[in-house]
Amino acid sequence: MTLTESPAWFITGCSTGLGRALATHVLDRGWRAAVTARDPETVADLVARHGDRAVALALDVTDPEQVTAAVKRAEETFGRIDVLVNNAGYGYLAAVEEGDDAEVRALFDTNVFGLAAVTRAVLPGMRARRSGHVVNVSSLGGLAGFGATGYYHATKFAVEGLSESLAAEVAPLGIGVTIVEPGAFRTNWSGPSMKQSATRIEDYAETAGKRREATLATYGSQPGDPARAAEAVVTALEADEPPLRLLLGTAALEVARGKVEALQRDFARWEELSRSTEL
Ligand code: NAP
Repeated sequence: MTLTESPAWFITGCSTGLGRALATHVLDRGWRAAVTARDPETVADLVARHGDRAVALALDVTDPEQVTAAVKRAEETFGRIDVLVNNAGYGYLAAVEEGDDAEVRALFDTNVFGLAAVTRAVLPGMRARRSGHVVNVSSLGGLAGFGATGYYHATKFAVEGLSESLAAEVAPLGIGVTIVEPGAFRTNWSGPSMKQSATRIEDYAETAGKRREATLATYGSQPGDPARAAEAVVTALEADEPPLRLLLGTAALEVARGKVEALQRDFARWEELSRSTEL
């Protein structure tokens, strides 16, 4: 996609972290943006610096009325949404057996169903114009799973599948899809935003338990710079053919490559058995 004119962006979860960095970058480039947050006061300073090119909108992605209202306001303000960035999301630490059902459903409500609801609200305008781009912020954790974050991975694997299908459906309509897969970035993700189950089962202390602590310990010293992530996302979208997947960070690249190799090994080792199931 070519972002030549003044594209209008719609970004979820802009109070902190990657969403805020992306909104800042987009507006500093002179483009337009609906900068959305559960509490729009958290983005008031950012929006105030950019006059008519920026609008702060209240949006909890789990609230269907707010989804409809925010998309409508953005379209009324800018006449269109060129780039939707589904960024809002958070993590949850628990061994699978330790997970609390209500907490897990709330996680899916934000990371998966909220993302889908915002996408459904924005697509009609993009289809009508036969142009647009949807950026879904997944994670390295949307490609590979580790102990203690099984439910988070489940949400991000869901985002990956949904996004692959969406890409196939909307490509003929002139709409692109890019899945962004960050490794560890210096945001609130592993700090104030992280949720975890109260239940802890001693049998998982050495696996999920240790990884809970290791994940929380990364807070503040993650290698990834959100401002550079924002630049990278824009660079990818400016390409003639933006990627379906964009990994962010060296560790993300290495772990993802390891996952692909592990898949290839499993496929090859069991190939004969796989093929044996047809008449
Ligand atoms: P962050 O600093 O915690 O930012 C998360 C943002 O999501 C906040 O603005 C938060 O708003 C918002 N949010 C959470 N629930 C929401 C809801 N129901 N409706 C609307 N907004 C909601 O963390 P981040 O790292 O920037 O996270 C952004 C995305 O990157 C997430 O999807 C995350 O899973 C993904 N990611 C992050 C990393 C990393 O290492 N940082 C790695 C891989 C993927 P409030 O201020 O209102 O809570």
